[in-house]
Amino acid sequence: MRAADIPEDLTEILVTEEEIRSKLDELAARVAEDYAGKDLLLIGVLKGAVMVMADFARALPFSVPMDWMAVSSYGASTKSSGVVQIRKDLDTDLHGKHVLIVEDVIDSGLTLSWLLENFASRGAESIEVLALLRKPEAAKVEIDCKYVGFDIPPEFVVGYGLDYSERYRNLRDVAVLAPHVYA
Ligand code: 5GP
Ligand code: MG
Ligand code: MG
Repeated sequence: MRAADIPEDLTEILVTEEEIRSKLDELAARVAEDYAGKDLLLIGVLKGAVMVMADFARALPFSVPMDWMAVSSYGASTKSSGVVQIRKDLDTDLHGKHVLIVEDVIDSGLTLSWLLENFASRGAESIEVLALLRKPEAAKVEIDCKYVGFDIPPEFVVGYGLDYSERYRNLRDVAVLAPHVYA
């Protein structure tokens, strides 16, 4: 669905579908160059990163394996709990792999800092992060994110995979959710 389909649920469109597409093409070109000849593994963080992974992976000019990890840190609330729980683990042995974590958004950074430590302990050769969105003002821990799509203000956003209570993931753009929806 498009933002115009649900105007009363949104206050502002932050990133459009077109902007996302061209940014992911740009990031894919950089990643293709940086990982030429390397054993790259993409790891998507479910469920929010599904759309990013789908479009980013298809923008790469070579075949690449994908694995998925499901963790929870939010539940149905809009605030990070800081508690990370594995809901679905990886299927892949990380030894010798050049891992690129594909994320929807870096908010407090707590989830990623936990994931980075977890993946490092499994023997990955290298680990980098690609995040479509980042909220610099919300950072509680600094994450060294090599590939960032867009820096956005510290507001709760939905769309392009991002949900509120499992809704709005199929919105094509990234938009700020109107407070009355969760108030
Ligand atoms: P963290 O605070 O640990 O960096 O963010 C953890 C996860 O919370 C993100 O990967 C994302 O799934 C979710 N999250 C953070 N900010 C937002 C937001 O603005 N909207 C939505 N829908 N999810 C968010
Ligand atoms: Mg996420
Ligand atoms: Mg969520």
